[in-house]
Amino acid sequence: MNASLATVPVILSRTVERLVAGQATSDGAGVKLTRVLTQDLQRRLDPFLMLDAFGSDNPNDYIAGFPDHPHRGFETVTYMIAGHMRHLDSAGHEGLLENGGVQWMTAGKGVIHSEIPQQEEGVMEGFQLWLNLPKRDKMNEPWYRDFPNQELPQFVTPQGVAATVIAGHSHGIQGAVTRDGTEPLYLDLHLPAGARFEQPLPAGHNAFVYVYRGEVSVSGQSVPAQRMAILKNEPQADGVVIQASADAKILLIAGKPLNEPIAQYGPFVMNTQQEIFQAINDYRDGRLGETA
Ligand code: MN
Repeated sequence: MNASLATVPVILSRTVERLVAGQATSDGAGVKLTRVLTQDLQRRLDPFLMLDAFGSDNPNDYIAGFPDHPHRGFETVTYMIAGHMRHLDSAGHEGLLENGGVQWMTAGKGVIHSEIPQQEEGVMEGFQLWLNLPKRDKMNEPWYRDFPNQELPQFVTPQGVAATVIAGHSHGIQGAVTRDGTEPLYLDLHLPAGARFEQPLPAGHNAFVYVYRGEVSVSGQSVPAQRMAILKNEPQADGVVIQASADAKILLIAGKPLNEPIAQYGPFVMNTQQEIFQAINDYRDGRLGETA
């Protein structure tokens, strides 16, 4: 089905700098999750601020969801592997996020939203990635889109790797979302055992792999399930080569660092402490999330 896939060979793959297990935590009204990309990695993995993995078949772990809360200064990308979650926000957006769908929300100058499960049993599994905005875009108007699974660009390589291109470009396929400032690449890859996948990456971009099923290896380093592998920025390396040691499902995420100051207070991510105080005041006074 993809006779015309553009393949750019990777001559020298990046290696693994380190493996990260993440931290078990809870957020919202008590949703259990693993924070894979924690605050101490924000500088190393600039422009990415956070990656949460949630997955449970116990409703007590997810049923409370995330009632009304604010965001300012960055983008949230929610990828639902299994389950149903309803989103409502102060900019008037509403959507149902379900099996294989992506919700991309640019908080910009501010939204107040809720993310509430629409199921009382069964599996709820997915990821939420926080992507920073360049300083010049932090106070832009909010933006929002839901992409049901069938609207996400997908392709299959000759080796049988099924790829979903949530953001950026891969093998000549343009993703659902592209961004100038941070140039994010967000791929979900399903690799049959033994398959190889090559992805060119600019040497200066920060990149990582998260394995959520099976096991892969990168330049001879094994990356087991529930681990993030931070890929080393090597000037000679022109991309990454991923080899599936078993049937595997992984996220491959990369982006162009902003190299701007990061000031975070909970759901607000700005450049200075002064801008954080402003966000807190605007939220307290009901100005955050006001429609223009
Ligand atoms: Mn949120």
